[in-house]
Amino acid sequence: MTEPHNGQTREPRTPRAQADAAQDLAAAYPHEVRAAVLRAVGEPMRLETIRLRAVGPRDVRVRIEQTGVCHSDLSLANGKLAQKLPAVLGHEACGTVVEAGAEVTNVQVGDRVILLWITPCRHCYACTHGQPYLCDTASSGSSEVYAVAADGEPVYPGLAVGSFAEQTVVPCNSVVPVPDDIGSEAAALLGCAVMTGVGAVMRTAQVEPDSSVLVIGLGGVGLSVLQGARLAGASTIIAVDRHAAKAQAARAAGATHFVPADEDMKKAVRGLTGGRGADFAFDCVGLAQTIRDAWSLTRRGGALTVVGIGGKDDVVSFSALEMFYFARTLHVCVAGSIDGSADLPWFFELIRSGKLDPGGLVTGHGRLTDVNQKLELLASGEAMRTLLAPGRP
Ligand SMILES: [Zn+2]
Ligand SMILES: [Zn+2]
Repeated sequence: MTEPHNGQTREPRTPRAQADAAQDLAAAYPHEVRAAVLRAVGEPMRLETIRLRAVGPRDVRVRIEQTGVCHSDLSLANGKLAQKLPAVLGHEACGTVVEAGAEVTNVQVGDRVILLWITPCRHCYACTHGQPYLCDTASSGSSEVYAVAADGEPVYPGLAVGSFAEQTVVPCNSVVPVPDDIGSEAAALLGCAVMTGVGAVMRTAQVEPDSSVLVIGLGGVGLSVLQGARLAGASTIIAVDRHAAKAQAARAAGATHFVPADEDMKKAVRGLTGGRGADFAFDCVGLAQTIRDAWSLTRRGGALTVVGIGGKDDVVSFSALEMFYFARTLHVCVAGSIDGSADLPWFFELIRSGKLDPGGLVTGHGRLTDVNQKLELLASGEAMRTLLAPGRP
């Protein structure tokens, strides 16, 4: 396949050679689409026309119907998470297959699909030991060129999906077909927030019926943790957030109590848990401070699950004595400990039976042009989940 111009190779000398090189590039990257391109960390994304790579025998090209704006996109855009640039972010998405390679058997053109941002290889140690969400090569797609910009510069897909664009090209094992009775908005949210939040409760922490659950941080994932706790049969479900306006959404998602994240928070949570602290606590923020708060509000012998992604310089401290005395278990949740292609049918069933309501997370809709504004809203802590519809004319 023709390599895109990377700024280091020398330009062809003759006009004829230049024309040939341009033709090769056009053949290797034939599909023009509009995309929100991140060129530098901390800068707004710009709407550009990029050209997607040609579909290989085991690839699919997908028109993006709905894509959520997730905290991980924010972390990639501000440099907290590393990503080769320029890149097209967006990883929580549902789309329609518009082209499928000759060897693709799991989906066909016209199928609606959920895009997976973890594609297990099925061969590495993690994959063969029941932890496909920790696959060695799960995120390798994010550092592979999948498109070129107008000037021929290589473009990378954020978290190997790149859904802040009209279309994307991914390997066929990175998509899961969506049944007709599951809406595209719900399907998109299953791709990250719901899978992560519900998985954190059911798979990572394995919350037990009649237990008490504390959830700190109510974005799309936090609200999904609340829905998961309700699903698990927890009897006391305490939601904590610094925005009191989220109380209503928290209750709709299953919270039995809402506690504002202020100086009285610890007293309030202890009061609701017999003075002991919660059986299961979830930090959905990813700051040392909120992890510490959730840890302190977990009962002796209880379990804390860290779901939020934090910064590498934000150190959490535990004294050696308190670790012994409180005998708490610390879990860390990656993608809800879920195997996307195997487990999504279980989620479809939960939606059908009314036990799970991804629509309850949605606080706004927008177009691709709104992406920067929606990311800012997420950064301010006000938004829970915004969905964009990039593939719509
Ligand atoms: Zn996400
Ligand atoms: Zn693997």
